[in-house]
Amino acid sequence: MTCKYTLPPTSTSPMRLTHLRQRLRELGAKPCHEDRLLRGWSQVCSYDRKHSPAVTFFPLALRNELSAIEAELDGLARLKSEHAVTALPPRKPSDETTSHSTRPANYAGQVVGYPQPSPASGRGGKCEKLCSIPAGEVADVARLLVELHDGQMVESVLLPRGGLCVSTQVGCAVGCVFCMSGRDGLLRQLGSAEIVAQVVLARRRRAVSKVVFMGMGEPAHNLDNVLEAIELLGTQGNIGHKNLVLSTVGDLRVFERLMERSSPPPCRGRAREGVEIMSNAAAFSTPILTFPLQGGRNLSSSVKHETVKPALALSLHTTNAALRTKLLPHAPRIAIEELVERAEAYARATGYPVQYQWTLIEGVNDSDAELERIVQLLAGKYAVMNFIPFNAVDELDYRRPSAERIASMVDTLNRQGIYTRVRDSAGQEIEGACGQLRARTVK
Ligand code: SF4
Repeated sequence: MTCKYTLPPTSTSPMRLTHLRQRLRELGAKPCHEDRLLRGWSQVCSYDRKHSPAVTFFPLALRNELSAIEAELDGLARLKSEHAVTALPPRKPSDETTSHSTRPANYAGQVVGYPQPSPASGRGGKCEKLCSIPAGEVADVARLLVELHDGQMVESVLLPRGGLCVSTQVGCAVGCVFCMSGRDGLLRQLGSAEIVAQVVLARRRRAVSKVVFMGMGEPAHNLDNVLEAIELLGTQGNIGHKNLVLSTVGDLRVFERLMERSSPPPCRGRAREGVEIMSNAAAFSTPILTFPLQGGRNLSSSVKHETVKPALALSLHTTNAALRTKLLPHAPRIAIEELVERAEAYARATGYPVQYQWTLIEGVNDSDAELERIVQLLAGKYAVMNFIPFNAVDELDYRRPSAERIASMVDTLNRQGIYTRVRDSAGQEIEGACGQLRARTVK
């Protein structure tokens, strides 16, 4: 039997979660059915419950279409190739220079602790220091070349400790000079379901408990889809809000939409209670649109407020406006001070520090003048500076600074109270620059 519901043609209208939800409702799904199906697809739990097997739980029309829907969801993102890194090189002390004793006093720390580990979602139960990779750790890092159902390709990266970097666009319009993803401009947007499908694909390989939106594409240019994916991943997808990291070059639309999310929902008293419930793991068994609050009252109007508040990463790369225009030619022209102020406002509203991203390029943005300016900009701010040494790429005429210079820069900033660390761009030896793997494949 052929399925009478088909996906929209994705070359012009990539599949969105709203389409999927609509389709489920047309098949008779109530919020509880929708919730269970989305959790099942997200690899959080099975469709079956102990006293409620899927075969009797889902409405008949949905059951009849279930295998067709699953096949279409599977086709959203397929593994084209996997490029594994079996071990990260041992870290030099300078690579992780910030010990607890040298952390700036204003850094509240990103300590992640969740109860109830789930094998599928990979949520751990232990507190840990953010993103430190101990020397010699064998980390399950791999680059995945992912084929979308129209044949376009994007990259996802499996990161240590249950992390996953996903793409949000095919290509990118920002055109950063050090990035292969923007070389051909923007080819198309990813639908929110295609973004989530990358997480599903990764979870079928191993647990994923953190998703960073730092792969191909600028999330600000596909914001509706990115936020829709974040909403699902932070609810049915069972990922803690601050483990969803939205990255941007800085765009007013992002700051405005994020600040809207961080404001209280319309019905302050009880709805606020609902939001807080949704932000801890115990509430993940409750459908997003209709969860009941104490007393059994259903405040569906207030809980339609988007509840998931991701962490924010801001790609700064330089403090010099003219240089930034050269490095990120199509990023919005917003004063760097304003970018920092807006990011800081969101950090204070959510309680998660801003993660500043800085691709380190020798002779370009590794000067002492940059360090001084970083200190001026970020002193006292709720911020983390991530230095990402540039990955050598044949096509690009840039180099990373020496290890000594990188160590010295990190040390200088940490001594000045700016929590700074070096981050590896995953899989350097396997076409590791963003977009490079895809560029090689589609040549
Ligand atoms: S670094 Fe990010 S924003 Fe810049 S071109 Fe690459 S994908 Fe786009």
